[in-house]
Amino acid sequence: LLYNQVQDLKGTIRVYCRVRPFLPGQSNGQSTVDYIGENGNIMIVNPLKQGKDARKVFSFNKVFGTNVTQQHIYADTQPLVRSVLDGYNVCIFAYGQTGSGKTYTMSGPDLTTEETWGVNYRALGDLFHISKARMDVIEYDVAVQMIEIYNEQVRDLLVSDGTNRRLDIRNNSQLNGLNVPDASLVPVKCTQDVLDLMRIGQRNRAVGATALNVRSSRSHSILTVHVRGKELVSGSILKGCLHLVDLAGSERVDKSEAVGERLKEAQHINRSLSALGDVIAALAQKSSHVPYRNSKLTQVLQDSLGGHAKTLMFVHINPEVNALGETISTLKFAERVA
Ligand code: ADP
Ligand code: MG
Repeated sequence: LLYNQVQDLKGTIRVYCRVRPFLPGQSNGQSTVDYIGENGNIMIVNPLKQGKDARKVFSFNKVFGTNVTQQHIYADTQPLVRSVLDGYNVCIFAYGQTGSGKTYTMSGPDLTTEETWGVNYRALGDLFHISKARMDVIEYDVAVQMIEIYNEQVRDLLVSDGTNRRLDIRNNSQLNGLNVPDASLVPVKCTQDVLDLMRIGQRNRAVGATALNVRSSRSHSILTVHVRGKELVSGSILKGCLHLVDLAGSERVDKSEAVGERLKEAQHINRSLSALGDVIAALAQKSSHVPYRNSKLTQVLQDSLGGHAKTLMFVHINPEVNALGETISTLKFAERVA
């Protein structure tokens, strides 16, 4: 194996917590993050409480504070990404309430500034870089799919004609990660190819939505990178895939307020995020039954969750006091899957 540098990351499921900084205009804010320890501990404080009950510690593989750069985040993600070139399947998730920084981690704030590019572009750039360096030994082909799951319906985000039709999921080990075989599968050779596709994807995501950020906070988007390598001497083939998942916002919707479409969306989101939590928790506990069938999200990712696959969950924290309730439920979700 060429890039199996993941020994330091024990087990197949790891959880990183990232704290979003206060945004301009929120700078007077009091933070609910009291303390970030060296060993993946984070202490949350409730400023409205006193004494022992006011503080609670949560533990993860790593915790990243507000000053941590995109480059630093990627450096701690890179070994996992590179293992795809050895034929592993990898899932990287961004979890958290709307506004906590999921899209910032995965994509970055905008496509034009390389310095703030997120995990998606850095991962693809890295895969291109390494496959070029190995060119004399292995010939790699890279292709991507980009889909959205909205109200338990799967749609292709890379259609050029905006048709955006519903797609079926097929779970078949022969497909090796190609579980939505009818979604466009586009070969890519360089980061520019990927940027071009992202623009198409973002445009399609906006179709039918009143505002892009509204729709994007209520759907899961999955960028899947399929890698196929052919060893030049032996002729043997290896395949791996990387799923980069920007999840729908995890906030609980007030049932007394939500009606109609909004209530339906909220129920679909709650159900699919719980299904994801159940699957990862079952895997973490080495349970003999893993309930993949309970959501489209877990069905699409089925052969990249468990087995020899590797999973990384970024959980995002908004440090504002009025987000405390969601922060606690996010950290509880994360602790359950860690
Ligand atoms: P989400 O996708 O979870 O709804 P976003 O990624 O859109 O949240 O982040 C909300 C806002 O916070 C955006 O304006 C984003 O640029 C900003 N932001 C999030 N994380 C960071 C960070 N680590 N550093 C600076 N700004 C951030
Ligand atoms: Mg987002």
